[in-house]
Amino acid sequence: VRSKESYSSKLPGPGELTLISRIRHLAANTSSPELRLGIGDDCALLRPRAGEELAVTTDLSIENRHFRLDWHPPEAIGHRTLARGLSDLAAMGARPVAAFLSLGLPPALTQSKARRPSQPNAQHNSWIDQFLAGLLALAEATKTPLAGGDLAQSPFAVADIVLIGAVPRGRALLRSGAQPGQSLYITGSLGAAAAGLARLAQLAASATSSTPPRIPKALATTLAAHLYPRPRLAQGQWLVRTNLATAALDLSDGLSTDLAHLCQESGVAAEVDADSLPIAPGATLDQALNGGEDYELLFTAPAAARLPRSIAGIPVTRIGRIVKPRSGRPQVTLLAEQRREPLLPRGWEHFS
Ligand SMILES: [Mg+2]
Repeated sequence: VRSKESYSSKLPGPGELTLISRIRHLAANTSSPELRLGIGDDCALLRPRAGEELAVTTDLSIENRHFRLDWHPPEAIGHRTLARGLSDLAAMGARPVAAFLSLGLPPALTQSKARRPSQPNAQHNSWIDQFLAGLLALAEATKTPLAGGDLAQSPFAVADIVLIGAVPRGRALLRSGAQPGQSLYITGSLGAAAAGLARLAQLAASATSSTPPRIPKALATTLAAHLYPRPRLAQGQWLVRTNLATAALDLSDGLSTDLAHLCQESGVAAEVDADSLPIAPGATLDQALNGGEDYELLFTAPAAARLPRSIAGIPVTRIGRIVKPRSGRPQVTLLAEQRREPLLPRGWEHFS
């Protein structure tokens, strides 16, 4: 993470160099075999393995569009920033190699709060420290080194993450491989993130301060799917190893929208069996179909393929099938108790 001389307004608070050297120190706990040189030089150096190709994805998170400072704990914003990129790698079946983080932050978010008598040794308790703690905890858990980035002062908070992954050459899971007759599968359950967000909104509405509401212990599990989603990296890599999936993507915008993307790229249509949908406890059918940010994998496989009940500990459910596109027919159809209805893309539009 280097300073750019072109930025006229440097980050105040602990000082940019101090902050960068702290990020460098914190990021030193993460590494990957491909990362030869991380934070500290003009560029990071990566050395891809023979027989693999690199997968690259970028995700922009903007205050009041993808997160709210008065709703989301800073640790959760850091976790979610990295999780969005990792989920894209998972969707291609790639293994994380390096992450690059660029932050634009208002000065208040880089300043340490006044020390409390109860925490005389708490030196780094600013918003950015908590953000980094959340991001780096997920980075360590997924063996994703933070290898560089940039910092600048900004009138509102913005975090951009670039993820580099590696996948065996020619084996990445694409959106374009689905064919009529194949089965449609999903990992995990649907709607938990949307249900958690709705609960978080209620908590925030009943709180009086401008800081995120304290989350009662009893609600931690309900909110975890929204605040701390787990990208399905092991499941995506398993699908590449076994060669079972013909197409895949991650559910970031909601099943109705993301399945339409898969159909579009593959030039096919799809039927979803409403009764087979693994709806998360506490979630509604609407949240399962249209709620965003579940970060589960949606994939297709030949009808004759034998899929296990779970992959790396996460259940796998067959939710429908791929069919031929017909003019005048909806791209995605929801089948429910002898009724057929079009499933229109109504995925979650974040805070817009
Ligand atoms: Mg994606």
